Amino acid sequence: MKTDFYKVSGNKAADHSAIVRAAEIIQNGGLVGMPTETVYGLAASALNTDAAEKIYAAKGRPSDNPLIVHIADPREAEAVAFVPPVYYRLAERFMPGPLTVIMPKRSCIPDSVTGGLDSVAVRCPAHPIARALICAAGVPLAAPSANRSGAPSPTTAEHVRRDMDGLIDMILDGGPSEIGLESTVIKLTDDGCVILRPGAVTEMMLASVLGSVSIAKAVTNPEMVGDKPLSPGMKYKHYAPNAEVILVDASPSAFSEYVKEHISENEAVAVADDAKASFAHCHVLSTGKSTSAKDESRELFALLRKADDLGYRRIYIKLPPATGEYLALYNRLIRAAGGKIIYISR
Ligand code: AMP
Ligand code: MG
Repeated sequence: MKTDFYKVSGNKAADHSAIVRAAEIIQNGGLVGMPTETVYGLAASALNTDAAEKIYAAKGRPSDNPLIVHIADPREAEAVAFVPPVYYRLAERFMPGPLTVIMPKRSCIPDSVTGGLDSVAVRCPAHPIARALICAAGVPLAAPSANRSGAPSPTTAEHVRRDMDGLIDMILDGGPSEIGLESTVIKLTDDGCVILRPGAVTEMMLASVLGSVSIAKAVTNPEMVGDKPLSPGMKYKHYAPNAEVILVDASPSAFSEYVKEHISENEAVAVADDAKASFAHCHVLSTGKSTSAKDESRELFALLRKADDLGYRRIYIKLPPATGEYLALYNRLIRAAGGKIIYISR
């Protein structure tokens, strides 16, 4: 299969014709790599069983790991799920945006989309190209991250091309993803709201609307990486480059001492530009300009892919706190490291 590649450049006529072409592909049961504000998604019609199955095949994804259904307006959730009133309080505050809500599913959503579950995950992305594509296709889009299963999620169209060239019909290049980590996934139950996957919509932001929110144990517990989870996706080794991720829980100074003592020629340390000075004789991979949750989150997956491109055998990364804006990054890192953390006493 030849994969068409379109750069969405801001030229209205050309961009419109690329989106119309992508929508035709979706309507005909094909697959399109699309930009979103979190990571790039691999989109197909969420109402078409065969199209959803093609997603699993292209990704090499286990078929029990359900897909998120993307809509262009929060109210369109009614067409695919049984929507409780609390959803609209969340929608008012966080949609469009990086929040996915799991609700009981309607029968129009095939089992292949939900991995046989009776619930469906729904998200309304903020990215204008994703929204334009959903509108033009006229159907909700099932869209997991557009990487080969297990690899770091793609945050540029080039990452998608590397993983998916020849396996999908088209890739829309909308530039690098603004957030860089996947959406927050929550489940609404009679007992309240539980975070199954942390993202840019934090526990505190959700609690400001809902009062209280709980976090699934596997989100923060490195020993549970690989266990039977609440959300099927949480059991798989995830986000992992070929290089071994050495995750070190230490103060900044103890981290740099540890790295200097252990790093060898074909290994690198991941730090922000503003902290590079402490690693003068090491190969450094940049986590962004400053040591901040936003920069480090946006750069993480590109950094993991770059480590492989450069042939590094190991990457040393300082473990961020498992709280606030850093929780999503923490969660991805413990998975990338297969649950292994080196603790240096403070
Ligand atoms: P991805 O498609 O790569 O962004 O991953 C989607 C995540 O949402 C995975 O971790 C899935 O397991 C999770 N998910 C999707 N639908 C459901 C559902 N109905 N119940 C629980 N988790 C879900
Ligand atoms: Mg994914």
